[in-house]
Amino acid sequence: MQTETAKTIDFSARSIERAATLAWLKPDPREQRQRPYDTALRTIALLQTTLELNPLLRLYSREVNTTVAHSSIHYRNIGQGIDLRVGRSARYRRTFRVVVEKQDLGRLTFTRGKPFTPRETALLEFLLSSLAYPLRNALQYEDAFQASLTDPLTGVYNRSMMETALRREVSLARRHGVPLSLIILDIDKLKAVNDHYGHETGDRLIKAIAESVAGSLRKTDIFSRFGGDEFVLLLSNTDRQGATVLAETIRKRIGGITRFFDGESIKASVSMGVAALTAKDSDKTFFARADRALYRAKSAGRNCIKVAGTR
Ligand code: GH3
Ligand code: MG
Repeated sequence: MQTETAKTIDFSARSIERAATLAWLKPDPREQRQRPYDTALRTIALLQTTLELNPLLRLYSREVNTTVAHSSIHYRNIGQGIDLRVGRSARYRRTFRVVVEKQDLGRLTFTRGKPFTPRETALLEFLLSSLAYPLRNALQYEDAFQASLTDPLTGVYNRSMMETALRREVSLARRHGVPLSLIILDIDKLKAVNDHYGHETGDRLIKAIAESVAGSLRKTDIFSRFGGDEFVLLLSNTDRQGATVLAETIRKRIGGITRFFDGESIKASVSMGVAALTAKDSDKTFFARADRALYRAKSAGRNCIKVAGTR
């Protein structure tokens, strides 16, 4: 692979107008491919049809291909954790850093098996003007969409996302005949922490516990803050025994840490209810069984786990 530095292109309505008057945009009579202006217009119209990044890039690549042939587009936006590729990477590349009204939208790399000519590079640059604003809109949409799924304090999923995931995972587990488990976790005596050290310390404890739990999970586990000091873990492909082992690991991990907040040392513990999906369960009864197990754990003195269907 060639290495190269990205050229920064800063788009504003004025810079787009200015670029459109450049000489290299004048049609070249020998040019077999579609004219750049036609491509830009079509692309702008097409990119308005979606706010999702993947389809947006696919449409964009397809349209640019009518003017500048390429085999792949690779888009990276480190700030938003986005890394997308359309097509197959090839040896030669051209990278642009796209900036819109001072906002860095990330890097876009075009690749193909033969070098890009200077004219083609200039055309790619021009055609980026069709992508810049739709890309910014798609990123804003992605941001808002992610925010609607996450809990602002801990950064883990929120209740609404968990409820959707629970319905989906129950139906998937049924269809594929695979196990599914649920853990409900509740911090012990958080009210006392709030009363002693203040609500802000309580918040920090909630956050620290979420981080501890997240550190014990697999990629496929779905972890949410269900509300207050209660968290829910949905474990696909995990049976009752697997879920119990995980719950015990989490409990020990959290109980074994003394946390320091502004010089105050706090030892927190958690209680958990565990349930594995049965043939008779609906998503509601599944959840209710884990919740009853949690209640038993609290009644048994806290800092312990109880498993639905066992004593
Ligand atoms: P238990 O061991 O029975 O769970 O006792 P608890 O004090 O943790 O009580 P419970 O779980 O029933 O209630 C949760 C308490 O956590 C109520 C409230 O004082 C506190 N809490 C709920 N949400 C938040 C929050 O966002 N921040 C803070 N700091 N405290 C919260
Ligand atoms: Mg609690």
